[in-house]
Amino acid sequence: VTLRAHFAIIGAGMAGASLAAAISGRASAVLIEAEDQPGYHSTGRSAAFWAESYGGSAVQPLTSASGPVLQEGGFLRARGGLHIAEAGGEAALAAMEREFGGAVELKRLGRAELETRLPGLREGWNAGLFEPSCADIDVAALHAHYLATARRSGVELLTRARLLEAERTNRGWRLATSSGAVEAGVLVNAAGAWADRVAELAGVRPIGIRAYRRTIAQLRVAPPAPADLPLVIDAQGRFYFKPEAGGRLWLSPHDETPCDPGDCAAEELDVALAIDRLERAVDWPVERVERRWAGLRSFAPDRVPVYGFASDRQDFFWFAGQGGFGIQTAPAAAALGAALLLSTAPPPEVARIDAAPYRPGRLLTS
Ligand SMILES: Cc1cc2nc3c(=O)[nH]c(=O)nc-3n(C[C@H](O)[C@H](O)[C@H](O)COP(=O)(O)OP(=O)(O)OC[C@H]3O[C@@H](n4cnc5c(N)ncnc54)[C@H](O)[C@@H]3O)c2cc1C
Repeated sequence: VTLRAHFAIIGAGMAGASLAAAISGRASAVLIEAEDQPGYHSTGRSAAFWAESYGGSAVQPLTSASGPVLQEGGFLRARGGLHIAEAGGEAALAAMEREFGGAVELKRLGRAELETRLPGLREGWNAGLFEPSCADIDVAALHAHYLATARRSGVELLTRARLLEAERTNRGWRLATSSGAVEAGVLVNAAGAWADRVAELAGVRPIGIRAYRRTIAQLRVAPPAPADLPLVIDAQGRFYFKPEAGGRLWLSPHDETPCDPGDCAAEELDVALAIDRLERAVDWPVERVERRWAGLRSFAPDRVPVYGFASDRQDFFWFAGQGGFGIQTAPAAAALGAALLLSTAPPPEVARIDAAPYRPGRLLTS
């Protein structure tokens, strides 16, 4: 049997699932996922935070617009973010204040206030910015919500269905997947780290999406990490950490190692580096590494996400380059993406966001 739909969406991670949910009820779609579990790659490996300052000023409108939607859906839990600086790092704090000037609430903290929010902070870390709006996201619940919304309105989810061939016929796309054939009018590329590969399969010019590995270690520290710790981010980008259930800590060395798309794993050296950097910031002995993992963050060359029809193909839609912010921007990105895909007016929550910076055409030079 051949499935037929208006849209064939490749990738059922947060990007594909959220977009499928946003168009559902208005057009038919098939969601095509290579793995058994749609969250197996980046979506299931995130640090699960919502931070308006994360990803830069081109991403911030998407994150900020997503906040109320996530809040109303019950997907956020207040945490607060703390950007800390040692000598030499103050300039980075000042740059943040300039970059977000008023768009994100950022409060200057001195040493005494830092100590209250972060017990055990070592000497030399004297400056900080507190970002009160920062929150934890229930990523699994959000992803499940999008998949369920899509399914309820008839979107078919094919798992273990790797896209193998994409052929343009006079009726649209004819796709061969490892679990059957699909015909669709528009091919939507939400394949995360594989986005350029999917474009190549379809004979569309790739736009230079590159994948970078990021590592997280789950640690036991002594005494256990207080549950009300903020997300703590080094202003110079060398680590971040946040508490997890049971007094555990999630710690990342903020690594960004170029990788081929695939099932990446944490490297011992990156975990050691993370622990070393943590120990230079706080005096908490690390008792055990309980778990470690890594995932891919994929970026366009300008690190701004890519939403829109390919400039060389009007039946191929990019929804890629979600970098390190694909969860926290998902509601707004999907609303904007659906409006572009269906050529409809964007819904109120994203009506004031200019979609021009996200156009794929910006990335083609010749
Ligand atoms: C360690 C880490 C921490 C992060 N922390 C945060 C955070 O705190 N907040 C935040 O907002 N973001 C965070 N991110 C980023 C976030 O995880 C990603 O931006 C987001 O998950 C991207 O979603 P996606 O659907 O594009 O990618 P993915 O979840 O990788 O989904 C892409 C899917 O496409 C499928 N696919 C690929 N090729 C094919 C094919 N040929 N046929 C069929 N299917 C195919 C893959 O199997 C995959 O399931 C983090 C990322 C990492 C790695």
